[in-house]
Amino acid sequence: MTTHTTKMLILGSGPAGLSAAIYGARAGMAPIVVQGIQPGGQLTTTTDVENYPGFREVIQGPWLMQEMQAQAEHVGTRMMWDTITEVDLSQRPFRLIGDGGDVYEGEVLVIATGAQAKWLGLDSEDALKGKGVSACATCDGFFYRGKNVAVIGGGNTAVEEALYLTNHAPHVTLIHRRDSLRAERILQERLFAHPNVSVIWNKEVREFVDGGGTAGLVALDLKDTVTGEHSRLDVEGGFVAIGHHPATELFRGHLELDSDGYIAVEPGSTRTDVPGVFACGDVMDKIYRQAVTAAGTGCMAALDAEKFLAAADFAELQEAAE
Ligand code: NDP
Repeated sequence: MTTHTTKMLILGSGPAGLSAAIYGARAGMAPIVVQGIQPGGQLTTTTDVENYPGFREVIQGPWLMQEMQAQAEHVGTRMMWDTITEVDLSQRPFRLIGDGGDVYEGEVLVIATGAQAKWLGLDSEDALKGKGVSACATCDGFFYRGKNVAVIGGGNTAVEEALYLTNHAPHVTLIHRRDSLRAERILQERLFAHPNVSVIWNKEVREFVDGGGTAGLVALDLKDTVTGEHSRLDVEGGFVAIGHHPATELFRGHLELDSDGYIAVEPGSTRTDVPGVFACGDVMDKIYRQAVTAAGTGCMAALDAEKFLAAADFAELQEAAE
Protein backbone atom coordinates (compact mmCIF):
# COMPACT_ATOMS: atom_id res chain seq x y z
CA MET A 1 0.00 0.00 0.00
CA THR A 2 1.43 3.33 -1.09
CA THR A 3 0.31 6.91 -0.59
CA HIS A 4 0.60 9.08 -3.70
CA THR A 5 0.39 12.81 -3.07
CA THR A 6 -0.06 15.74 -5.41
CA LYS A 7 -1.43 19.24 -5.50
CA MET A 8 -3.97 18.26 -8.15
CA LEU A 9 -5.64 14.88 -8.16
CA ILE A 10 -7.78 14.01 -11.17
CA LEU A 11 -10.15 11.08 -11.32
CA GLY A 12 -10.99 9.98 -14.86
CA SER A 13 -8.98 9.93 -18.07
CA GLY A 14 -11.37 10.94 -20.85
CA PRO A 15 -11.07 14.28 -22.67
CA ALA A 16 -12.19 16.18 -19.53
CA GLY A 17 -9.69 14.60 -17.12
CA LEU A 18 -6.79 14.76 -19.57
CA SER A 19 -7.48 18.39 -20.56
CA ALA A 20 -7.56 19.29 -16.85
CA ALA A 21 -4.23 17.45 -16.54
CA ILE A 22 -2.61 19.29 -19.47
CA TYR A 23 -3.59 22.69 -18.06
CA GLY A 24 -2.84 21.64 -14.46
CA ALA A 25 0.62 20.34 -15.34
CA ARG A 26 1.49 23.48 -17.27
CA ALA A 27 0.38 25.54 -14.23
CA GLY A 28 2.86 23.63 -12.03
CA MET A 29 0.32 21.50 -10.13
CA ALA A 30 2.06 18.18 -11.07
CA PRO A 31 -1.22 16.32 -11.49
CA ILE A 32 -1.87 12.67 -10.86
CA VAL A 33 -4.58 11.18 -13.07
CA VAL A 34 -6.19 8.04 -11.71
CA GLN A 35 -7.61 6.24 -14.73
CA GLY A 36 -10.82 4.46 -13.98
CA ILE A 37 -12.19 1.19 -15.33
CA GLN A 38 -12.35 2.60 -18.88
CA PRO A 39 -9.02 4.38 -19.43
CA GLY A 40 -9.50 7.05 -22.09
CA GLY A 41 -13.26 7.15 -21.54
CA GLN A 42 -16.08 6.81 -24.04
CA LEU A 43 -13.97 7.77 -27.08
CA THR A 44 -12.00 4.55 -26.75
CA THR A 45 -15.13 2.65 -27.78
CA THR A 46 -15.80 4.92 -30.76
CA THR A 47 -14.26 4.48 -34.16
CA ASP A 48 -14.45 7.43 -36.57
CA VAL A 49 -14.28 10.92 -35.07
CA GLU A 50 -15.01 13.74 -37.48
CA ASN A 51 -16.00 16.54 -35.15
CA TYR A 52 -12.96 17.10 -32.92
CA PRO A 53 -11.42 20.36 -34.14
CA GLY A 54 -7.93 20.34 -35.57
CA PHE A 55 -8.10 17.27 -37.79
CA ARG A 56 -9.06 17.61 -41.42
CA GLU A 57 -9.15 13.83 -41.97
CA VAL A 58 -11.31 11.39 -40.00
CA ILE A 59 -9.43 10.24 -36.90
CA GLN A 60 -9.99 7.26 -34.61
CA GLY A 61 -11.32 7.76 -31.06
CA PRO A 62 -8.74 5.47 -29.36
CA TRP A 63 -5.90 7.20 -31.23
CA LEU A 64 -7.15 10.65 -30.13
CA MET A 65 -7.17 9.50 -26.50
CA GLN A 66 -3.64 8.05 -26.76
CA GLU A 67 -2.46 11.39 -28.11
CA MET A 68 -4.20 13.32 -25.31
CA GLN A 69 -2.63 11.03 -22.70
CA ALA A 70 0.83 11.36 -24.28
CA GLN A 71 0.42 15.15 -24.32
CA ALA A 72 -0.63 15.16 -20.64
CA GLU A 73 2.38 13.00 -19.71
CA HIS A 74 4.73 15.07 -21.82
CA VAL A 75 3.93 18.18 -19.77
CA GLY A 76 4.37 16.38 -16.45
CA THR A 77 1.23 14.39 -15.57
CA ARG A 78 1.61 11.10 -13.71
CA MET A 79 -0.86 8.46 -14.91
CA MET A 80 -1.98 5.78 -12.43
CA TRP A 81 -4.26 2.83 -13.03
CA ASP A 82 -6.57 2.01 -10.15
CA THR A 83 -10.23 1.51 -9.26
CA ILE A 84 -11.26 3.91 -6.55
CA THR A 85 -13.62 2.39 -4.01
CA GLU A 86 -13.72 5.04 -1.28
CA VAL A 87 -13.46 8.80 -1.01
CA ASP A 88 -12.90 11.20 1.87
CA LEU A 89 -13.79 14.79 1.02
CA SER A 90 -14.29 15.89 4.62
CA GLN A 91 -10.92 17.71 4.77
CA ARG A 92 -7.97 18.73 2.63
CA PRO A 93 -5.97 17.00 1.30
CA PHE A 94 -8.83 15.03 -0.22
CA ARG A 95 -8.28 11.27 -0.21
CA LEU A 96 -9.22 8.58 -2.71
CA ILE A 97 -8.61 4.95 -1.82
CA GLY A 98 -8.02 2.30 -4.49
CA ASP A 99 -9.26 -1.28 -4.32
CA GLY A 100 -5.72 -2.52 -3.59
CA GLY A 101 -5.40 -0.10 -0.65
CA ASP A 102 -3.29 2.60 -2.34
CA VAL A 103 -4.15 6.11 -1.18
CA TYR A 104 -4.20 9.17 -3.46
CA GLU A 105 -4.11 12.58 -1.82
CA GLY A 106 -4.71 15.90 -3.55
CA GLU A 107 -4.91 19.48 -2.35
CA VAL A 108 -7.60 19.83 -4.98
CA LEU A 109 -9.68 17.12 -6.64
CA VAL A 110 -11.02 17.19 -10.19
CA ILE A 111 -13.75 14.66 -10.87
CA ALA A 112 -14.03 13.62 -14.52
CA THR A 113 -15.59 10.17 -14.24
CA GLY A 114 -17.97 10.66 -17.18
CA ALA A 115 -21.27 9.00 -18.00
CA GLN A 116 -22.38 5.98 -19.94
CA ALA A 117 -25.27 5.80 -22.37
CA LYS A 118 -28.06 3.45 -21.31
CA TRP A 119 -28.83 0.67 -23.77
CA LEU A 120 -31.89 -1.49 -24.22
CA GLY A 121 -29.83 -4.60 -23.46
CA LEU A 122 -30.68 -6.64 -26.58
CA ASP A 123 -28.11 -9.01 -28.12
CA SER A 124 -28.91 -7.64 -31.58
CA GLU A 125 -28.28 -4.09 -30.30
CA ASP A 126 -24.83 -5.11 -29.11
CA ALA A 127 -24.04 -6.92 -32.35
CA LEU A 128 -24.99 -3.91 -34.52
CA LYS A 129 -23.32 -1.11 -32.53
CA GLY A 130 -21.40 0.94 -35.07
CA LYS A 131 -23.21 -0.90 -37.89
CA GLY A 132 -26.48 0.99 -37.69
CA VAL A 133 -27.02 1.21 -33.93
CA SER A 134 -25.74 4.24 -32.03
CA ALA A 135 -26.40 6.16 -28.82
CA CYS A 136 -25.22 9.55 -30.09
CA ALA A 137 -26.87 11.35 -33.00
CA THR A 138 -24.52 14.33 -32.78
CA CYS A 139 -21.54 11.97 -33.13
CA ASP A 140 -22.87 9.59 -35.78
CA GLY A 141 -25.80 11.33 -37.53
CA PHE A 142 -23.56 12.55 -40.32
CA PHE A 143 -22.88 8.94 -41.36
CA TYR A 144 -26.60 8.46 -42.09
CA ARG A 145 -27.03 11.04 -44.84
CA GLY A 146 -29.86 10.04 -47.13
CA LYS A 147 -30.95 7.10 -44.95
CA ASN A 148 -34.13 6.66 -42.94
CA VAL A 149 -33.50 6.39 -39.21
CA ALA A 150 -35.35 5.85 -35.94
CA VAL A 151 -34.79 7.26 -32.46
CA ILE A 152 -35.89 5.30 -29.40
CA GLY A 153 -36.95 7.23 -26.27
CA GLY A 154 -39.31 9.95 -25.14
CA GLY A 155 -37.19 12.44 -23.17
CA ASN A 156 -35.42 15.66 -24.15
CA THR A 157 -32.46 13.77 -25.56
CA ALA A 158 -34.60 11.60 -27.84
CA VAL A 159 -36.55 14.58 -29.20
CA GLU A 160 -33.43 16.70 -29.69
CA GLU A 161 -31.68 13.81 -31.43
CA ALA A 162 -34.69 13.22 -33.70
CA LEU A 163 -34.75 16.90 -34.68
CA TYR A 164 -30.99 16.94 -35.20
CA LEU A 165 -31.17 13.88 -37.44
CA THR A 166 -33.60 15.65 -39.80
CA ASN A 167 -30.49 17.56 -40.98
CA HIS A 168 -29.22 14.33 -42.50
CA ALA A 169 -31.98 11.77 -42.85
CA PRO A 170 -34.95 12.11 -45.24
CA HIS A 171 -37.25 10.66 -42.58
CA VAL A 172 -36.93 10.19 -38.82
CA THR A 173 -39.27 8.02 -36.74
CA LEU A 174 -39.41 8.49 -32.99
CA ILE A 175 -40.42 5.32 -31.17
CA HIS A 176 -41.71 5.61 -27.64
CA ARG A 177 -42.94 2.93 -25.25
CA ARG A 178 -45.83 5.03 -23.92
CA ASP A 179 -48.42 7.38 -25.46
CA SER A 180 -46.91 10.65 -24.25
CA LEU A 181 -43.43 12.16 -24.22
CA ARG A 182 -41.64 13.43 -21.16
CA ALA A 183 -39.65 15.96 -23.22
CA GLU A 184 -40.26 19.70 -22.70
CA ARG A 185 -43.39 21.05 -24.39
CA ILE A 186 -41.50 23.36 -26.75
CA LEU A 187 -39.41 20.46 -28.05
CA GLN A 188 -42.51 18.34 -28.49
CA GLU A 189 -44.18 21.11 -30.50
CA ARG A 190 -41.17 21.35 -32.78
CA LEU A 191 -41.10 17.61 -33.22
CA PHE A 192 -44.79 17.25 -34.05
CA ALA A 193 -44.62 20.17 -36.48
CA HIS A 194 -41.67 18.76 -38.42
CA PRO A 195 -42.74 17.39 -41.82
CA ASN A 196 -39.99 14.74 -41.88
CA VAL A 197 -40.69 13.25 -38.46
CA SER A 198 -43.31 10.74 -37.41
CA VAL A 199 -43.92 9.31 -33.96
CA ILE A 200 -44.83 5.72 -33.22
CA TRP A 201 -46.49 5.35 -29.80
CA ASN A 202 -46.66 2.38 -27.44
CA LYS A 203 -43.94 0.37 -29.10
CA GLU A 204 -40.75 -1.20 -27.83
CA VAL A 205 -37.89 -2.53 -29.90
CA ARG A 206 -37.60 -6.31 -29.64
CA GLU A 207 -34.83 -6.71 -32.19
CA PHE A 208 -32.47 -4.73 -34.39
CA VAL A 209 -32.64 -6.70 -37.64
CA ASP A 210 -29.31 -7.45 -39.32
CA GLY A 211 -29.40 -7.43 -43.13
CA GLY A 212 -26.46 -9.86 -43.26
CA GLY A 213 -23.11 -9.40 -44.98
CA THR A 214 -22.04 -5.77 -44.85
CA ALA A 215 -25.63 -4.45 -44.80
CA GLY A 216 -25.79 -3.78 -41.04
CA LEU A 217 -29.12 -2.65 -39.62
CA VAL A 218 -32.04 -2.88 -42.06
CA ALA A 219 -35.12 -2.85 -39.81
CA LEU A 220 -36.54 -2.86 -36.30
CA ASP A 221 -38.84 -5.52 -34.96
CA LEU A 222 -41.35 -3.67 -32.76
CA LYS A 223 -43.81 -4.94 -30.20
CA ASP A 224 -46.91 -2.99 -29.24
CA THR A 225 -46.86 -2.42 -25.47
CA VAL A 226 -50.70 -2.42 -25.36
CA THR A 227 -51.75 -5.16 -27.81
CA GLY A 228 -48.54 -7.23 -27.93
CA GLU A 229 -48.62 -7.21 -31.76
CA HIS A 230 -45.36 -7.26 -33.71
CA SER A 231 -44.55 -4.95 -36.62
CA ARG A 232 -41.50 -4.09 -38.70
CA LEU A 233 -40.02 -0.69 -39.46
CA ASP A 234 -37.40 -0.46 -42.22
CA VAL A 235 -34.55 1.84 -41.13
CA GLU A 236 -30.80 1.88 -41.60
CA GLY A 237 -30.04 3.77 -38.40
CA GLY A 238 -31.36 3.16 -34.86
CA PHE A 239 -30.46 5.74 -32.21
CA VAL A 240 -31.03 4.65 -28.63
CA ALA A 241 -31.76 7.76 -26.54
CA ILE A 242 -33.11 6.44 -23.27
CA GLY A 243 -30.82 8.36 -20.91
CA HIS A 244 -27.34 8.16 -19.41
CA HIS A 245 -25.80 6.96 -16.14
CA PRO A 246 -23.38 9.53 -14.72
CA ALA A 247 -20.57 7.77 -12.83
CA THR A 248 -21.26 9.41 -9.48
CA GLU A 249 -21.97 6.48 -7.13
CA LEU A 250 -18.68 7.07 -5.29
CA PHE A 251 -19.66 10.63 -4.47
CA ARG A 252 -23.26 10.11 -3.34
CA GLY A 253 -23.50 11.55 0.18
CA HIS A 254 -20.18 13.41 -0.20
CA LEU A 255 -21.14 15.98 -2.85
CA GLU A 256 -24.36 17.57 -4.01
CA LEU A 257 -25.85 15.72 -6.99
CA ASP A 258 -28.79 16.94 -9.08
CA SER A 259 -32.08 15.06 -9.45
CA ASP A 260 -30.65 12.97 -12.34
CA GLY A 261 -27.54 12.03 -10.34
CA TYR A 262 -25.10 14.40 -12.09
CA ILE A 263 -22.62 16.40 -9.96
CA ALA A 264 -24.07 19.84 -9.29
CA VAL A 265 -21.74 22.73 -10.09
CA GLU A 266 -22.07 26.47 -9.65
CA PRO A 267 -23.41 27.74 -12.99
CA GLY A 268 -20.66 28.95 -15.31
CA SER A 269 -17.94 27.16 -13.31
CA THR A 270 -16.78 23.67 -12.35
CA ARG A 271 -17.02 24.34 -8.59
CA THR A 272 -18.95 21.72 -6.61
CA ASP A 273 -20.45 22.34 -3.17
CA VAL A 274 -17.17 21.21 -1.53
CA PRO A 275 -14.54 23.97 -1.86
CA GLY A 276 -11.50 22.56 -3.70
CA VAL A 277 -13.47 19.82 -5.49
CA PHE A 278 -14.23 20.46 -9.15
CA ALA A 279 -16.23 18.46 -11.70
CA CYS A 280 -15.93 18.50 -15.48
CA GLY A 281 -17.09 16.61 -18.54
CA ASP A 282 -20.11 14.34 -18.83
CA VAL A 283 -20.31 13.72 -15.08
CA MET A 284 -21.63 17.29 -14.70
CA ASP A 285 -23.01 17.93 -18.20
CA LYS A 286 -26.17 16.19 -19.34
CA ILE A 287 -26.85 18.54 -22.23
CA TYR A 288 -23.84 18.83 -24.56
CA ARG A 289 -21.89 15.60 -23.89
CA GLN A 290 -19.27 16.12 -26.58
CA ALA A 291 -15.54 15.37 -26.44
CA VAL A 292 -14.79 19.00 -27.22
CA THR A 293 -17.13 20.35 -24.51
CA ALA A 294 -15.69 17.83 -22.03
CA ALA A 295 -12.20 19.05 -22.93
CA GLY A 296 -13.43 22.64 -22.50
CA THR A 297 -14.82 22.05 -19.02
CA GLY A 298 -11.63 20.12 -18.15
CA CYS A 299 -9.67 23.26 -18.94
CA MET A 300 -12.11 25.28 -16.81
CA ALA A 301 -11.62 22.86 -13.89
CA ALA A 302 -7.83 23.30 -14.01
CA LEU A 303 -8.18 27.10 -14.08
CA ASP A 304 -10.74 27.02 -11.23
CA ALA A 305 -8.42 24.70 -9.25
CA GLU A 306 -5.40 26.92 -9.78
CA LYS A 307 -7.35 29.97 -8.62
CA PHE A 308 -8.57 28.08 -5.55
CA LEU A 309 -5.04 27.02 -4.57
CA ALA A 310 -3.66 30.53 -5.09
CA ALA A 311 -6.36 31.96 -2.79
CA ALA A 312 -5.77 29.20 -0.20
CA ASP A 313 -1.98 29.82 -0.24
CA PHE A 314 -2.55 33.56 0.17
CA ALA A 315 -4.90 32.96 3.12
CA GLU A 316 -2.25 30.73 4.78
CA LEU A 317 0.45 33.38 4.29
CA GLN A 318 -1.78 36.02 5.83
CA GLU A 319 -2.56 33.76 8.79
CA ALA A 320 1.14 33.09 9.33
CA ALA A 321 1.89 36.83 9.23
CA GLU A 322 -0.69 37.64 11.91
P1 NDP B 1 -34.78 10.88 -19.61
O1 NDP B 1 -34.52 9.98 -18.44
O2 NDP B 1 -35.40 12.19 -19.38
O3 NDP B 1 -35.69 10.11 -20.67
C1 NDP B 1 -35.43 8.79 -21.04
C2 NDP B 1 -36.53 8.34 -21.98
O4 NDP B 1 -36.22 7.03 -22.43
C3 NDP B 1 -37.91 8.29 -21.34
O5 NDP B 1 -38.88 8.75 -22.24
C4 NDP B 1 -38.10 6.82 -21.04
O6 NDP B 1 -39.43 6.37 -21.17
C5 NDP B 1 -37.31 6.16 -22.15
N1 NDP B 1 -36.77 4.88 -21.70
C6 NDP B 1 -36.01 4.62 -20.60
N2 NDP B 1 -35.69 3.32 -20.55
C7 NDP B 1 -36.26 2.74 -21.63
C8 NDP B 1 -36.30 1.42 -22.12
N3 NDP B 1 -35.65 0.42 -21.51
N4 NDP B 1 -36.98 1.19 -23.25
C9 NDP B 1 -37.63 2.18 -23.92
N5 NDP B 1 -37.64 3.47 -23.51
C10 NDP B 1 -36.95 3.73 -22.36
O7 NDP B 1 -33.34 11.00 -20.34
P2 NDP B 1 -32.79 12.16 -21.28
O8 NDP B 1 -31.45 11.71 -21.70
O9 NDP B 1 -33.76 12.50 -22.33
O10 NDP B 1 -32.63 13.40 -20.31
C11 NDP B 1 -31.86 13.28 -19.08
C12 NDP B 1 -31.90 14.62 -18.37
O11 NDP B 1 -31.16 15.57 -19.12
C13 NDP B 1 -33.30 15.20 -18.19
O12 NDP B 1 -33.35 15.91 -16.98
C14 NDP B 1 -33.42 16.14 -19.36
O13 NDP B 1 -34.36 17.17 -19.14
C15 NDP B 1 -31.99 16.68 -19.46
N6 NDP B 1 -31.69 17.12 -20.81
C16 NDP B 1 -31.88 18.43 -21.11
C17 NDP B 1 -31.65 18.90 -22.37
C18 NDP B 1 -31.89 20.34 -22.64
O14 NDP B 1 -32.23 21.07 -21.71
N7 NDP B 1 -31.73 20.80 -23.86
C19 NDP B 1 -31.16 18.02 -23.44
C20 NDP B 1 -31.01 16.65 -23.03
C21 NDP B 1 -31.27 16.24 -21.77
P3 NDP B 1 -40.58 6.81 -20.13
O15 NDP B 1 -40.91 8.22 -20.51
O16 NDP B 1 -41.66 5.83 -20.42
O17 NDP B 1 -39.96 6.66 -18.78
